[in-house]
Order: sequence, then C-alpha cells, then structure tokens
Amino acid sequence: MAGVWVFAENYEHGLELLQIGRSLADKTGVELTAFACGDKEVGQQYIYYGAHQVFILPPLAEDQPLETYVPAIAEVARQEDPDIFLFAATLRGKEIAARVAARLNTGLCSECIELDIKDNKLEMKRVLYGGAALQTIICKTRPQMATIPVHTFTSVTDLDNTRQGIIKEFDPISSTPVKVRDRQPRAQESGDITRSRVLVCVGRGVEKEEDLKLARELAEILGGDLACTRPIAEELHWMPQETYIGLSGQTVKPELYIGLGISGQIQHTTGIRDSRIICTINKDEDAPIFKISDYGIVGDLYKVVPFLSQELARLKKK
Ligand SMILES: Cc1cc2nc3c(=O)[nH]c(=O)nc-3n(C[C@H](O)[C@H](O)[C@H](O)COP(=O)(O)OP(=O)(O)OC[C@H]3O[C@@H](n4cnc5c(N)ncnc54)[C@H](O)[C@@H]3O)c2cc1C
Repeated sequence: MAGVWVFAENYEHGLELLQIGRSLADKTGVELTAFACGDKEVGQQYIYYGAHQVFILPPLAEDQPLETYVPAIAEVARQEDPDIFLFAATLRGKEIAARVAARLNTGLCSECIELDIKDNKLEMKRVLYGGAALQTIICKTRPQMATIPVHTFTSVTDLDNTRQGIIKEFDPISSTPVKVRDRQPRAQESGDITRSRVLVCVGRGVEKEEDLKLARELAEILGGDLACTRPIAEELHWMPQETYIGLSGQTVKPELYIGLGISGQIQHTTGIRDSRIICTINKDEDAPIFKISDYGIVGDLYKVVPFLSQELARLKKK
C-alpha cells in the first residue's frame, strides 16, 4: 500500500498530520498510512480517524532513543514505496525525517507550512529569509518528504469507531547504535507557549529581570502566559529557551499577543504572524512592530503596563 504516509511520535501531532495527509490522499486517490510508536491503542484511533493502514512500531527500551526506529521506517518505505511521507517537525521528528530521507536517497523539505497537489506532484511551501519570502518546492525523487511544524494544521475531528483498517506490527528492535545513558530534566521547565490563547511577550525594552513581574501580572489577569524575544532568553537568560518566539524559537498562534518593549525585527515577527490580534507597546513610534500590529500604544511600558493591569483588574472585578 503506497500512497501518503505520516509519522509523529505523539498522538495529537499524529492527528494533525492525518488531517493534511488525508486531504492529499483524497486529492490523488491513494491510501493513507500512519505510524504509531509502541502503542496499539493509538494505532486503532488513527484508523478511526481516517488512516487506511497503521504500522505499530515496537515499544523502545529505556536506553533506546527514538531514532532507533529509523532503519525500520526506512526499510518499510523502501519496500512499499510511498508517494508522500510527512513528519511532525518536532525535535525528534526532524531528526528522524532527515535520517530516513538520507537512507531513501530522497529530498526533504523542512518546516513546510502549505502542501498541495499540482500536476500529480506535491507542492510544498516554506517560509524563507526570516519570513520575507515564501519558497515553493517540488521534489523530483520519491518519496516526496516534508516536515510540518506542529499546530500548522487543525486536527481531524470526524471520529468513526466503525472504520476498518489494516494494522501491521513491527518486530521488537533489539540492536541500537546509540544508547541513552542518562536522562535529566531541564533546569527550568515552563508551559507550552504554542498552545497559549493569550501571550504577553517581553523584549529588551524591559530593563531589569525583576521588572518581568509587570508583564507576569498582566498575563495573569488575562489568563495568559509569558513569552519573550530571543535576547531575553539567549543573552540575558531571564526566561527559559522554550519561551522565546521567532525564526529560531517558537511559532505561536494565540488569540491575543501583547508585545512589550519589542522592536519587531523580522526574526521575531515571523513567529507571531498567525496571532489573531497583535497589540504592542513601544516608546518609539517608528518601531517596525507597529506595522504588523492591530493595536499599538506609543508609550513607556513602565507607565502603560501597570495602568493597563490595574484597569483590567478593575473591570474583571465588576
Ligand atoms: C539568525 C538570527 C535568528 C534570530 N532569531 C530570533 C528569534 O527567533 N526570535 C527573536 O525574538 N529574535 C531573533 N533574532 C534576533 C532579532 O534579530 C532581534 O535582535 C531581536 O528580536 C530583538 O529583540 P527585542 O525586540 O527584544 O530588542 P530590541 O530590538 O533591542 O528592541 C527593544 C525595543 O524596546 C523599545 N523600548 C525600550 N524601552 C522601552 C520602554 N520603556 N517602553 C516601551 N518600549 C521600550 C525600544 O524602542 C525598542 O524598539 C535572531 C537574529 C538572528 C541573526
């Protein structure tokens, strides 16, 4: 069964890929195959959500990294020859996709944000030059492979518990070229800002680390989370790495983004362009961030933010 294949190590990301995978499969009249990592229950769900076939990869031992699956995935792809193979662009997903593509001697379009079928070929679009251009790629080799950033597409919703499909299980993988010797949690853990409905984002206009509390208060009143620009996380280390937005950071899609003391360089704004409403506060009226803002306040954040928080808290109490 060739057709469209999707791989995600996580169930929710798998559902997203099923959505886009199914639309491509329907357009070309082929079948949809999904991989489930070590969990038959997940495989069954994928069938209920539209996969015609599911490969259940075997559970991994503690010392086996996810990349252990690469030879097995590449081998089955070599045998069955899918037309299209999509991967969730998670940290591990990108690693696996690149290795599978290398083994299959085919190309890989990374961080694809739009996919379509034109003249029976997969047309892949990705952002280029920090958001200044959109590149269209067609792959001449097979399978046509791409990684898709998570939350780019909505998940499938039409569950049908009567849907039938083929489930194939892989044999356990005993040998592994790389062994995990130790796992350590990150020193600073924080929430997942890619899921936040409201984000208050701080930039270098915030002068001192203790002043982050102004932004945190505003975020709390609005039931949102705190995010930042790259210098705040990478240079000043005031906030965890996973909370910075942009080209080399996270891509977010909140209902409301409030930027405080952020200039609006393209490397940052490329990560916020899908926000529903963008509000910004900057004391420089020529700051580029205002060009992409729905609402902007030219003013000193040290004056505007406490006032805003106070007024919002007052309205909330009413
Ligand atoms: C390859 C590459 C990748 C990058 N990737 C990313 C990325 O993923 N994400 C990212 O964020 N950056 C990224 N950058 C960095 C990016 O180019 C900018 O340097 C960065 O986004 C600027 O952060 P900022 O807006 O916080 O700071 P600044 O550009 O210094 O802006 C600070 C703003 O605060 C305003 N301000 C100052 N004081 C106040 C006040 N009291 N009240 C109100 N406003 C005030 C100023 O007018 C100014 O506009 C990348 C750079 C490179 C080269």
